[in-house]
Amino acid sequence: MQILEKLQEKLGNSVQEKVALAQYSTFKLGGPGRYFFIAKTSDDIVRAVTAAKELNLEIFLLAGGSNLLIADDGFDGLVIKAENKNISVETQYVEAHCNASLQRRGGIFIKAEGGASWMDFVNFTKENSLTGAEWGAGIPGTVGGAARGNAGAFGRSVHEIIKSVEVLDSETTAVKTLINAECSFDYRESIFKKNKNLIILNATFQLQRGNRASIEKEMNERIAYRKNSQPCLPSAGCTFKNIIITDEIKKKLIETIETKELEAKIKGGKLGSAFLIDKAGLKGYQIGGVKVSDEHANFIVKVDDTAKADHVIQLISYIKQQVRDKFGIQLQEEVQYVRYGH
Ligand SMILES: Cc1cc2nc3c(=O)[nH]c(=O)nc-3n(C[C@H](O)[C@H](O)[C@H](O)COP(=O)(O)OP(=O)(O)OC[C@H]3O[C@@H](n4cnc5c(N)ncnc54)[C@H](O)[C@@H]3O)c2cc1C
Repeated sequence: MQILEKLQEKLGNSVQEKVALAQYSTFKLGGPGRYFFIAKTSDDIVRAVTAAKELNLEIFLLAGGSNLLIADDGFDGLVIKAENKNISVETQYVEAHCNASLQRRGGIFIKAEGGASWMDFVNFTKENSLTGAEWGAGIPGTVGGAARGNAGAFGRSVHEIIKSVEVLDSETTAVKTLINAECSFDYRESIFKKNKNLIILNATFQLQRGNRASIEKEMNERIAYRKNSQPCLPSAGCTFKNIIITDEIKKKLIETIETKELEAKIKGGKLGSAFLIDKAGLKGYQIGGVKVSDEHANFIVKVDDTAKADHVIQLISYIKQQVRDKFGIQLQEEVQYVRYGH
């Protein structure tokens, strides 16, 4: 029996072969997934991971596809598209885990499945007059993707509101709950990034009761800011992480950048990579069908249909080399590569 048939036997006829993955990535780039399964529930994810393990197939968990560069030759294993989307208020969680004082203060817990759209979660908080996630309005992708990458904006990030995360270990197929302190959250980092076997099934968020009108106002402002500052061509968001400023890095930077100019650009201990890329004269620099955005130098955008993931890889490498040569700084990718072996 062919592998496709075996997968269909285990997961149903919806398993497909050679599915173009570009359609599922905001970059609109990348080749096919050898096998492709849409997981509508968390249980579907567990079943798909178990099936892949039995058939010795690599897995790739595809969520909102907004932080990905998928290789031109695609992914030669089972792509599991996470569409487990439930979002609910967790009253039992409050009763079981929270002291009377927190309950009185109105701490509310929301459980969102990994495949739920991050914006559905943000809107859910607004609809329920809950404050704490306003800064996240406008970030694309899913709850699982956001928790894995500790997504953030405006000096805030997801780890500030996560209480716990339920994960499936794809190696052992065990499901366990990690509390926030066990997730090793850091700037765009987490245990889920370091341990690729961990699949986030759901996350429980802690929010506070707030004023709906002011929550909505702040969300609208965040969304408007994004519309004005980010390109609308296809991209994967920020290509590189921002630079954490240490004494040593600052010393290096002031060899080439005037201290005042530099200090004005450092916010919350970080320097935007966009500043260095722009200063290196790379805005608008194009390789093949992709270029450094004219609006935001940390975005690489797809310009036309000649674009390939390989062009992005070449452009990333060129930007890193230029920034290293000019400022002595080694940029680190925020975008995640998808290729066989993942
Ligand atoms: C226009 C634009 C603006 C953006 N702005 C921001 C921003 O302000 N701040 C920010 O932090 N990011 C930003 N991003 C990047 C992106 O939106 C986030 O990184 C997002 O959280 C990725 O989620 P996703 O569901 O799209 O993940 P995907 O891109 O589908 O996947 C990313 C990685 O996470 C893994 N993953 C996804 N779900 C799970 C899960 N349930 N369990 C385990 N692993 C999982 C995938 O396997 C993959 O390795 C932006 C992107 C775009 C295109």
